Amino acid sequence: MRAGVIGLGIMGGAIAERLLGAGHTVTVYNRTREKAEPLIEQGAHWAQSPAEVAHQSEVVISIVTDPKAVEQVSFGEVGIFDALPADSVHCDMSTVSVEWTRHMAETYRRAGKRFVQAPVLGGRKQILEGTLLVFGGGAEEDVSRCEPVWRAFSDKMWRFSSAEQATVTKLACNMLIAHMMVGLGQSMLFAAKGGVSPATLLDILLKSNLSAPMYATKGQALLERNFRANFFVRHLLKDLTLAEEAARETSTILPLNALTRELFVAAMQMGYADEDYSAVVKVMEQLAGTELSQNP
Ligand code: NAP
Repeated sequence: MRAGVIGLGIMGGAIAERLLGAGHTVTVYNRTREKAEPLIEQGAHWAQSPAEVAHQSEVVISIVTDPKAVEQVSFGEVGIFDALPADSVHCDMSTVSVEWTRHMAETYRRAGKRFVQAPVLGGRKQILEGTLLVFGGGAEEDVSRCEPVWRAFSDKMWRFSSAEQATVTKLACNMLIAHMMVGLGQSMLFAAKGGVSPATLLDILLKSNLSAPMYATKGQALLERNFRANFFVRHLLKDLTLAEEAARETSTILPLNALTRELFVAAMQMGYADEDYSAVVKVMEQLAGTELSQNP
């Protein structure tokens, strides 16, 4: 198929790579052109604007930072919206607010254009392995059009009848990621302060019913003090904030969010915005007066 990718950050770059590998004709655009160079070398076509990507593509994927960035690439002067051919679908895979998702879906529907909100769970590693989780929300026919493209990087797709449901699902997952990270850091630090090796505690957790693949990768990264970003602190803070906004609309109480979000705000203030979200544990280490890596 003719697929377009707008936004070639950690996620979009890997998605474009997989689409090329699967034999799709791929057109790419990124605000900063340098990020497209390795993809152009692999056979991707460079477009001068999001509008040009839309002209060239049956499925136009956007995967950019936040609602503001989606607005820019969709409704900016040379945006996707005006240029999207009648048969093509704009599939936004960014994590955005429920309110913004509703606005996008309604704007496209009123104009008789096709739109699917398809946020994802998993990171660059899962994209490159072809195991990313995709939550596709929109009209059935439009979701069906996107699926052959998603198959290049996903083997697990869920369908939702509205775009908003897809975003709610994604935010529910990301809240849990944040809480799990803080919970793991807390238990490992508690063990370390009590004279128990955090590596031993991690080993026990991974052999217990509490085990989760995320605890294995992030627990090891904490022990090695490796905070190279797969998913930025600033992006997870954005998602916690978006979840709170959505919860207000449905009068849902999110008691854990209040504390977890404060820790992420502190991580930003301490300069960890562009580190992996596991760097939130560095805030807790400072409060505990010890680093996990110093407790063999
Ligand atoms: P990233 O590496 O920071 O990439 C962000 C992309 O958005 C870049 O291509 C950036 O362009 C573009 N962008 C930002 N502001 C823009 C604007 N105003 N106009 C046009 N383009 C703009 O982020 P990422 O990790 O790929 O994440 C992208 C989205 O996927 C986010 O919504 C994130 O929450 C979500 N997500 C990420 C992960 C993950 O593991 N990383 C997992 C699931 C979902 P430049 O290159 O020019 O800055």
